[in-house]
Amino acid sequence: MSKLAAFLTELSDHELRAFHHFRFNEFMKGSKEKITLEMEKRGISSPNPDEFEAQLKISSEDGFFPNRAALCPRCLSEKFYTRHEIETISYSIASFEVDADYKTCLVCHYSEGNDENAGKTTHVTAGGFLWRLLNRKR
Ligand SMILES: [Zn+2]
Repeated sequence: MSKLAAFLTELSDHELRAFHHFRFNEFMKGSKEKITLEMEKRGISSPNPDEFEAQLKISSEDGFFPNRAALCPRCLSEKFYTRHEIETISYSIASFEVDADYKTCLVCHYSEGNDENAGKTTHVTAGGFLWRLLNRKR
C-alpha cells in the first residue's frame, strides 16, 4: 500500500472530505485516483466546496465537535500535530535560534505558527518583531 493510501485509511470520514476539499487539486492524477477510490469505498461523494465550507463553519460553532479545542481550526481534523522545529530567524545584525512548537494539520496543512502575514515581517519595527518573537505561542 502506498504512503498516501495508508494515510487515507487513517482519516475519519469527515477528515477525508476535508482532505479532498483542501488538497485534492495539489495531487497528480494517480494520487487523485487513490483519494477518489477511498471516498468511493466509503460511499462518500465529493462535497460541493461551498456547502462544505458552510458545513465546517456550522460544525465549528454549534459544539458538534466536543473536543473542538484540540482540532485544526480550519478543517476540524484531529490530525493536528505539534511539530518540533528549530527555526533560525535572522534579523539585522542578530541571529536568533528559536525553539518553536508549531501545530500543523496533516489534512489541510494549516499551520498555527506560520501566520498568513509571514511575508509582511519586513514591515514590522525591531521592537515589534522582538515582541512577537518573545510572545509567540509555545
Ligand atoms: Zn486542517
